[in-house]
Order: sequence, then C-alpha cells, then structure tokens
Amino acid sequence: MSHTPQSDSTYHLRYQQQQIFFESGKTREYAFRAAQLKQLRTVIKDHEQEIIAALQADLRKPVFEAFTSEIGLVYDEIAFALSHLKAWMAPEKVKTPAVLFPTTSRILPEPKGTVLIIAPWNYPFMLLFSPLVGAIAAGNTVFLKPSELAPRTSALMEKMVSENFDPAYIHIVTGDGATVVGRLMETIRFDHIFFTGSTPVGKIIAQAAAKTLTPVTLELGGKSPAIVDSEVDIDTAAKHIAWAKYFNAGQSCVSPDYVLVHESQKTRLVERMRHYIHAFFGDNPQQSESYARIINHRRFDVLEKYLHEGNIVAGGQTDREDLYIAPTVIENTGPENKLMQEEIFGPILPVLTWKTQAEALSIVKKNPQPLAFYIFTQNDKTSDEFIQRIPFGGGCINNAMVHLANPHLPFGGVGSSGMGSYHGEESFRTFSHFKSVMKTKNFYDNPLRYPPYNNRKVDLAQWVFD
Ligand code: NAD
Repeated sequence: MSHTPQSDSTYHLRYQQQQIFFESGKTREYAFRAAQLKQLRTVIKDHEQEIIAALQADLRKPVFEAFTSEIGLVYDEIAFALSHLKAWMAPEKVKTPAVLFPTTSRILPEPKGTVLIIAPWNYPFMLLFSPLVGAIAAGNTVFLKPSELAPRTSALMEKMVSENFDPAYIHIVTGDGATVVGRLMETIRFDHIFFTGSTPVGKIIAQAAAKTLTPVTLELGGKSPAIVDSEVDIDTAAKHIAWAKYFNAGQSCVSPDYVLVHESQKTRLVERMRHYIHAFFGDNPQQSESYARIINHRRFDVLEKYLHEGNIVAGGQTDREDLYIAPTVIENTGPENKLMQEEIFGPILPVLTWKTQAEALSIVKKNPQPLAFYIFTQNDKTSDEFIQRIPFGGGCINNAMVHLANPHLPFGGVGSSGMGSYHGEESFRTFSHFKSVMKTKNFYDNPLRYPPYNNRKVDLAQWVFD
C-alpha cells in the first residue's frame, strides 16, 4: 500500500481493468454480489477495533457513536441488501396497453458500470461504505474517494479495501479532494458519481459531471431547523434535540442546525436543554468520553466566531489546542448573523422564538431547502402544516436525526440540499439503470400503424386515444 498520490495513468489503467472486469459479466451474477457484500461485512468485522481507533484519532469519536452511527449502520445496510437482493435484481413484468397486443413488457435492473463514490470527513467510514453497499448490490465496479480531512480513517479504509478487494473491482484513491477528484473526472468517464459533502463542492462536481452527462447523486447539507410548538412535551423535545445536536459534536448533516421555539416554551426549553447537556456529558463535557471533537483548527476557528453572535445561555467554553467546543446554546441572535446564514456543523445551537406559524415559516424560508426538518408538537394539524409547507429532504415528528436509520426510507436532500437518494432499496436503485424492454410475438401484427394512413385509420386512432 502506498500513500503517494496515484498518477493519471494509474487511474486510467485501473479504469481499463474495471471495464474489462465489468464486461466479463461477473458483477451481474447474484452469487458474486452476495459474496462481495459478505466479504465487505467480514472485512469490517475483522477491523472493528481499528476503525474505532481511527475514528477516535480523527474526531475523538465516542466508541458508542463510532459503533452505532458508522459501523452499525453499514452492517444494517449490508444485512438489508442481502435479504432483499434477489427480489431487487429480478426483472419486473409490467402491463402493456392492449393496442400493442401481442406484446409483453419488462423492466430489467442493470448495473450502471463504473461508479465513483466521494465521502466527507464527518462520518468518514459510514459515508464511504454505506453507498458502497448499494454500488455492490447493483453490480457495479467502484472507485472510492474518502475524505483527506479524516486521515487515519482514510488510510485505514485504503488498507482495508486494497488488501481485500481486487482493484479491477473496487479501487480506492486517497488525497486532496480538489486535485484527486478533478483528475479522476478528467481521466475517467464514470457511469455515476455519488457525492456526499458540502453544497459548494456539490456544484463543482455537478458542473464537471455535466461535461460528460454523467449522472450524479448529491448528498449535501444546509440549515436544518427544529421547530418546537406551544403544545409539546417539552422535556422529551429538549432531550431529543440535545442528543441529535451534540452527537458527533454537531458535525452531522442532519443535526438540528437551529431551534425555533414557540415563545411560551422558550424558558423551559433552555432550562431542559441545560439539564440534558449536564445529564449527557457531566460537569465538564471536555472530560466526557461521550463527546467528540471538532475535526480541525480551520473548522474550530469558523465555529469559535459564531460564539460572538448572540448570548450564550449554556456552554460556550472552548479549547483550541484540544479542538474542544462545549455543547452550547445561544439566544438573541438574528438573521443578519452568519450563525443564521451558514450551516453551523458544530455544537452550537441558536434558539429563536416565534409567535405565529407564519413567523416561524418566514425564518425557515430565509435559507434554501434544508436537508432535514424536525417538528416537536402534540398537535397533528400543526405538524402536517409545517411538513407540507417546508420543502426538506427528510425529517421527524417529535424526534430528530433517527430517520436516517430506517432502510425503508429513502435518504436524500431537495434543491440545494441535494438530489437523488439512497439507503435500502433506494441505494440499489441509485446505482442501477432500469432498462425497459418489450417482447412481441409474431402471430398477429396490428395493421393500424402502417402507412398509407386513410380516414378509417385516423378514426380508429382517434377512438383509441379518446
Ligand atoms: P466537502 O464538500 O468539503 O468534501 C467532501 C468530499 O469532496 C471530500 O472527499 C473532499 O476531498 C472532496 N472535495 C473537496 N473539494 C473538492 C473539489 N474542489 N472538487 C472535488 N472534490 C472535492 O465536505 P466536507 O467538509 O467533507 O463535509 C461537510 C459537508 O458535507 C457539510 O455541508 C455536510 O452537511 C455535508 N454532508 C452531507 C451529508 C448527507 O448525507 N447529505 C452527510 C455528511 C455531510
């Protein structure tokens, strides 16, 4: 294994090898795909402790969080794919209009070919390997590009992949994103690009992919609101918000970015948030084994500035050396502040109040479509109204962040928070092309469609399409 960047000719060679392998038809076999999914599971099992150690080195990720949100979610995806793969792969027979008699129609799921998966640093393991499950299940060959900003996890994944998978099937490329991805996309005409990361880089990927009309899935970010209604179980709302916000120190794409609380519940919400921050992380969260760190100094400095954009009512302590920012709640901030314009992506929670639903909606609509949306209310009408009126990728009523753990739900954004989705069957569909095929028997050939067209044929056509 080498950590020196690979040259364009290496990329090209790997691509040629992958094309030869793809053309061999091996990846079309159910047995092959199932065996590779099991192999992936075994490789992960064999490296569990190393994965946890790498995530601790990169993010001081708590063992529980590393196990559940990184490793566990990938196991779940593998298990789900293995139990449904045969059904997903089966051609689907569909109806055919009677005028096309005697014809039958089928939809054939086909692998797209060679795909590229690009992952960010915040869940560096899960966000590379979870889409990989879909790419394998759908029968593709794969290039993987982990984030260089989680270097220990990236190096470990490079080792795991290169030692256990043939690069003619799955090849991993590490290094600086702008350079590596740019060169990969110049050299190779991928059949699909699956990108998870920031909205600005998502735009760069979409632009580069447009040159070759390469389809893209973009899993991006945004400002995901949590709205707390007046009719609410405020204690549970505070507990769920605190859990979701401070999980991975707020560095989750579906973390509640800010809270809009009905003014009647504000004091109580802040009091309960303080309570749960203490219950989860103790007197000094910096000493807690259950609390992660900011990924790097660049991100720390961005977050640190947000602390000056309102009144801190919980937390606020920082330690740059240790990349530590306490679980923080901020009030008295407004739309003019960066805190309310940029995706926070850290453990700082602005709390704003509203009196009317219209006011709450207008605050949410100041920013583009969020990836996630959470509404805490006991009133079904209120939740229905917010859910209908706010465009968002996915979300929860009276909970936060857990919607991504259900493989029966497609996961993805809308508008500036992304396009396309994955998880469970949706991952298989994302990495498949659905080929429509009709088969006609020769014993009858409807003469209606052939020239010369006479009035009788026109009448008949009008009758058929009426
Ligand atoms: P990022 O966009 O900076 O990087 C993501 C990946 O793109 C990395 O592998 C990086 O090497 C590569 N990259 C960086 N610059 C590039 C360029 N110019 N050209 C090509 N590739 C480039 O994102 P990040 O900082 O790693 O992650 C944080 C962002 O990701 C947040 O906005 C967050 O909301 C989002 N995110 C979204 C999801 C989701 O599922 N929707 C999940 C996690 C994170």
